[in-house]
Amino acid sequence: MKTKIWEMVSDAKVIAIGGHIRPDGDCVGSCVAMYQYIRKMYPDKQVYIYFDEVSKTFDYLTVKAECVYDYHDVNADLFITLDASDIGRLGSAGCYVKKAEKVINIDHHISNTLFGDVNIVCPDSSSTCEVLYELFDERMIDKDIAEALYTGIVHDTGVFQYSNALKRTMEIGGTLKEMGIDSDRIIDETFYEKTYKQNLLLGRCLLSSKLYLDGKCIVSIATKETFDEFDAAPSDTEGIVNQLRIIKGVKVAAFIYELSEGEYKVSLRANQNVDVSKVCAVFGGGGHIKAAGCTLYGDIEDQLSKLLEQIDIQIQDAGL
Ligand code: AMP
Ligand code: MN
Ligand code: MN
Repeated sequence: MKTKIWEMVSDAKVIAIGGHIRPDGDCVGSCVAMYQYIRKMYPDKQVYIYFDEVSKTFDYLTVKAECVYDYHDVNADLFITLDASDIGRLGSAGCYVKKAEKVINIDHHISNTLFGDVNIVCPDSSSTCEVLYELFDERMIDKDIAEALYTGIVHDTGVFQYSNALKRTMEIGGTLKEMGIDSDRIIDETFYEKTYKQNLLLGRCLLSSKLYLDGKCIVSIATKETFDEFDAAPSDTEGIVNQLRIIKGVKVAAFIYELSEGEYKVSLRANQNVDVSKVCAVFGGGGHIKAAGCTLYGDIEDQLSKLLEQIDIQIQDAGL
């Protein structure tokens, strides 16, 4: 499989790379790492990355790549999708994936629909960046590639903290760190650092959170009014769900925010062995066992009770 994908890259002239909407550290890191690696190994190829709006925090990565934000067709003969579990998750870039001659789908989501001509989906890997590390020739990983891969691993493992950070993840992290990257800065400035208004928004969401299911589930909802109060945007909500998850006794944390009228983005995080990807699958979403997401449509109170029913089923299935 590893040889096959590099053959496909070698046969292509124009290569497009794309990840999921509202890109996180793993999405940006894996897209930029793949871009840099192809540029280094196959300098004659034209390579582009399709990105939905990327947080400024990741400027140190995106400035080093040819990024397309206005979604015009680059007529790619090969499309490489990274960290995206289905075509819908690719947002506006999805139509170009369908148009491309060949598609390579590289991911680590258990819910991946295997939509590529070649699919490399590793649910046991911490991140798409970890999957890429295994696909790259280690000797060809330079400082720029290492920086991008490290960013993705740090973000998807919560700085090597979550249960998806296994021995191999730590080994890869150590190897990348030795390549002279500014790991402290990546961790501090892209993972922990928050703006003043992000912290105020976090405070408001914690104050308005409510416990359900005998204290086993915590829910916080940020409406348009909540965002308006702090002149904040959905991209300012990063990290809130993790703060909800660490509350004593909580098995599932749900952070919900309004995308537009009647449209709500849900982020779920689980403790112990509750499978929240199954909850999200019921609502057309997906993700990982302990971190998943979906979108709810309609009246939020009705939708919340349906969501809680499914969460309850999974908590009981886990015997908790
Ligand atoms: P989030 O809560 O948005 O940070 O997402 C948690 C995990 O679930 C990530 O790995 C996402 O890629 C995945 N995910 C989030 N939303 C969806 C969705 N609507 N469909 C499929 N996977 C999702
Ligand atoms: Mn992601
Ligand atoms: Mn990921």
